[in-house]
Amino acid sequence: MSDQQNFTTHQYDVVIVGAGLAGCAAARLYAENGLKVALLERRPHIKDYKKSCTHYIQASALPTMQRLGLAERIEEAGGLRNSIDTWTQWGWIRHEVDARYPKYGYSIRREVLDPIMRELAVETEGVDLLLGHSVKALQRNAERITGVVAQNGRSNVVFEAKLVIGADGYQSTVAKLADTAVKERDNNRFIYWAYYKNVPASGKTAQMWLVDPDVVYHFPSDNGITLLAVIITKDKLAAFKENIVENFESLIAQMPDAPRFDVGERITDVMGMINYPNFERQTWMPGLALIGDAAVTSDPIWGVGCGWAMQSAEWLVDCTSEALLAGQDLNRPLKQYHRKHSFIRTHNSVIADYSSGRMLNGLEALYFKAGTLDRRMARLSHNLGSRHINPLELFYPTNLIRAMWVTFKHRKKPMEQHQLNFRPMSVTVQK
Ligand SMILES: Cc1cc2nc3c(=O)[nH]c(=O)nc-3n(C[C@H](O)[C@H](O)[C@H](O)COP(=O)(O)OP(=O)(O)OC[C@H]3O[C@@H](n4cnc5c(N)ncnc54)[C@H](O)[C@@H]3O)c2cc1C
Repeated sequence: MSDQQNFTTHQYDVVIVGAGLAGCAAARLYAENGLKVALLERRPHIKDYKKSCTHYIQASALPTMQRLGLAERIEEAGGLRNSIDTWTQWGWIRHEVDARYPKYGYSIRREVLDPIMRELAVETEGVDLLLGHSVKALQRNAERITGVVAQNGRSNVVFEAKLVIGADGYQSTVAKLADTAVKERDNNRFIYWAYYKNVPASGKTAQMWLVDPDVVYHFPSDNGITLLAVIITKDKLAAFKENIVENFESLIAQMPDAPRFDVGERITDVMGMINYPNFERQTWMPGLALIGDAAVTSDPIWGVGCGWAMQSAEWLVDCTSEALLAGQDLNRPLKQYHRKHSFIRTHNSVIADYSSGRMLNGLEALYFKAGTLDRRMARLSHNLGSRHINPLELFYPTNLIRAMWVTFKHRKKPMEQHQLNFRPMSVTVQK
């Protein structure tokens, strides 16, 4: 990089690196609070989108999407209100609405969602979206991080601000440049997915088959398009790769009550992602905060990252806007954000543990089984999966006692017999 004195410098209240879901949400909310925001995005086009995502947005994010004005745009664009039924070796856990929490999230392809999100940010007075700006360095003084250096073509531009936000996804350059503490854990499953059209509806909702330790998904999405996905432990990768398309489709076809995708038409390749480690990073340091995947990158198996990207952005904005407007020290509000963010980290510690590729532990099995037998337990399971409640609620004596009681009461109920044949291998659900 050339001599810094030649750089053009811009001043903002907040500089956000990354115009994905987290970055755009934060930009819009800060600007609505009267702050001046630079939103820097390395991709060159407003319609660029994240390709690797199965885009099931959990219901916990509904209030944030409504506040952003995103929910109505998603509906206008054909996004589906979602909910999910989960198959386990003990039977189906059917979706049970709990009146205390938002009832649905959305399923909408990222190629539709991401441009809407960027447009929402751009049309908010106070947001400058700078496409084609890739952040390469941070600026700091003795007390804090004070700005970033972004490369735009051949020129370098400095953006100085009271707060720099890393919203730059799971490989966060900002976090690396700031040298934030990071906990990395391997994900021992891989994922393949594909899109279909004209697949007849199978039930009212999305479906997840927990063929422990593997998972299969059927996500009806926007505009009559259906996403199907398999998430499988890596010990089966070589065998799966011998014939990706055949293994992908034959595995889905064997699921109980599977959608008739064979009468529909596959409209994309079968796409895959083999390595996607879990990252948990320090959420703040003086002058800097991380949101979305940059703070916590969670296993895609549970479909949490999109909702958490927007929710963590909202929490950061709510904790820091007042101090930013008043020109006050930000360390206290940033600590407050860190405390609020612990909700995500608590969930993620359970998620990251399961991503080792292990099977369900005794407590998880107890609750999944109870969810197939009892509506209250099914509600608890949905509240947890939709990320409405803290996983520590599984340890509440009232929940534990009920889960044990219903499973004891139905102890003679036969389990579902199901054999899943992979080609060329086979996976058996043990009874
Ligand atoms: C296979 C797969 C399936 C998934 N399925 C689901 C699902 O069903 N439901 C769900 O909720 N989540 C899912 N996720 C997770 C979800 O995609 C992410 O959690 C979510 O996109 C995170 O949003 P973000 O805004 O934090 O980051 P991103 O969406 O990654 O956005 C980061 C932005 O920063 C930009 N950027 C990066 N570096 C720089 C730089 N140096 N300078 C400037 N800009 C930069 C990028 O171009 C990008 O636009 C899945 C993930 C994967 C991999």
